[in-house]
Amino acid sequence: MNHLITGGAGFIGSELIDYLLENSNNHVICMDNFQSGSKSNLSNAITSPRFDLIRHDVCEPIRLEVDRIWHLACVASPNRYQINPIATTKTNVLGTMNMLGLAKRCGARMLFTSTSEVYGDPEISPQSESYLGNVNNIGVRSCYDEGKRLAESLCFDYLRVHNVDVKIARIFNTYGPRLRTDDGRVISNFINQSINGKPLTIYGDGSQTRSFCYIDDLIQGLNLLMNSNSVGPINLGNPEEVSINYLAELVCELSNKTLQVVHKELPNDDPHRRCPDISRAIEELHWSPKVSLRDGLSFTIRSLRSCSEALMID
Ligand code: NAD
Ligand code: UDP
Repeated sequence: MNHLITGGAGFIGSELIDYLLENSNNHVICMDNFQSGSKSNLSNAITSPRFDLIRHDVCEPIRLEVDRIWHLACVASPNRYQINPIATTKTNVLGTMNMLGLAKRCGARMLFTSTSEVYGDPEISPQSESYLGNVNNIGVRSCYDEGKRLAESLCFDYLRVHNVDVKIARIFNTYGPRLRTDDGRVISNFINQSINGKPLTIYGDGSQTRSFCYIDDLIQGLNLLMNSNSVGPINLGNPEEVSINYLAELVCELSNKTLQVVHKELPNDDPHRRCPDISRAIEELHWSPKVSLRDGLSFTIRSLRSCSEALMID
């Protein structure tokens, strides 16, 4: 089979490509415009004769022959996707239409990576898939969260009108060693600050919560969904909910460092809490995360620290 991974040079996409190349005999095509992805993420994949790379913006139509489409293309870090919000909306809407059109023409199965951001600043916790959300449609995050909501709507219309075989994963905050050092998301910032002995930047009072899922668990969940009969949307995330203050303490403890903390202004529309209800994933996919935050974070810190030491030696 031919698998297409849009956004395959990014954090999650590149891990997915490595997984598919290692665990199947399928052909894997990565399509990326390198807005936030990097070729270094593809250094394993590029050595495989079953791998191809296409530099292409998903907002432009493309003609390919594929059996499976994993549609991940979209910058995921809030301060990065807000740099060019109109491009972010275009990627979510035009990009998703193009991929649904490709799936329709090829008769391919398509998995769309949506996000917990579709729940906005939730009034209920944990968030189940039936919760319709509390999103500011004119806020600075709306290019991303409303973009993803419209993309979900397109997926269901292509399913209802054209019978396209679609699946929707609603991914919650995910982390792992391949996060870019300049990504801007909290785990990447805290670990890089700890490596460089800088104060940890906590936005607001740090009482806001998130639930962090280790990358290996997410990749398992995405594969189970792609190979299941479920359409979704299905929450994929780790229900271990922590405050940002606790995360900062844990990074200090696991790095063996006493670090200062500086408080910065809370970004607009920053959700107060986020925690997945994963009952549907447990029931339909028999999936639940296996890696605790402590173990995943400890491994990520060690891995990023050795990368930075290797760079210093270079
Ligand atoms: P990332 O920013 O590391 O990767 C996104 C990739 O998409 C990059 O390689 C980027 O260059 C590419 N891209 C962006 N716009 C493109 C376009 N117009 N055409 C072609 N390529 C384009 O992000 P990630 O963390 O790997 O996230 C991957 C997907 O998962 C995204 O759709 C994101 O919304 C979703 N998601 C991620 C998280 C998370 O915590 N990482 C949480 C929820 C949802
Ligand atoms: N955050 C923080 N310090 C940072 C980066 C982020 O306190 O250096 C906070 C941010 O305000 C949010 C949480 O950490 O409340 C998660 O932010 P991130 O950008 O990782 O992802 P989000 O869940 O907001 O998409």
